Amino acid sequence: MSDYAERRARMVEHQLRGRGIRDERVLAAMGEVPREAFLPEHRRDQAYVDAALPIGSEQTISQPWIVAAILQALELRGDEEVLEVGTGSGYSTCLLGRLAAHVISVERHAGLARAAAEHLRAREATNVELMVGDGSRGVPDRAPFDAIAVHAAAPAPPPALARQLAEGGRLVVPVVTGPEEMLTVLHRRGAELETTAIAPCRFVPLIGAEGF
Ligand code: SAH
Repeated sequence: MSDYAERRARMVEHQLRGRGIRDERVLAAMGEVPREAFLPEHRRDQAYVDAALPIGSEQTISQPWIVAAILQALELRGDEEVLEVGTGSGYSTCLLGRLAAHVISVERHAGLARAAAEHLRAREATNVELMVGDGSRGVPDRAPFDAIAVHAAAPAPPPALARQLAEGGRLVVPVVTGPEEMLTVLHRRGAELETTAIAPCRFVPLIGAEGF
């Protein structure tokens, strides 16, 4: 086993399973996708630390546990159409591609989207589609989505995204509640949205029409 593979396996056991991640598909995907491949060369050695890491353009790749918490809350079974807001490095995009049928991922920084596209090509992720722009508005002409993941903190759950949820669909979004943020999941049940708080967290801000 390579050094990275060993560190990845330890990350899954200690940082994820040891801290309450129970979805076996999420654990398996995070045991397979190499986080190091989505980092700038000089940061690869830190790939399995229990933290977010800088990826350029003042943005970060999220801490492995928070990525797992988002993926688990999306309750993916494999046949879903997913929207992701905040491609960043492309790491979470790659994982979503493994866990769902198809992913549209939107990133506002063209440079990050370009690097993510290269990383995803190298991983042969063929069921993911990248777009550059303001993802806080969603992608109305491709809606509805069974699951929507937002990787940047919003002042409130973006109404445009909630409107693009299919019946029974899940929207996971970090919402600013004070000095911290709360990772929040909204379930569409008919006209109602059922809201559940998952865990406190820290994210970069969602910049856009329904962000800051
Ligand atoms: N999921 C990423 C984490 C990215 S951090 C990963 O695994 O690496 C959040 C990202 O959201 C940043 O790259 C930031 O540029 C992007 N972002 C912020 N506001 C956005 C918006 N309105 N639309 C699309 N992307 C946005």
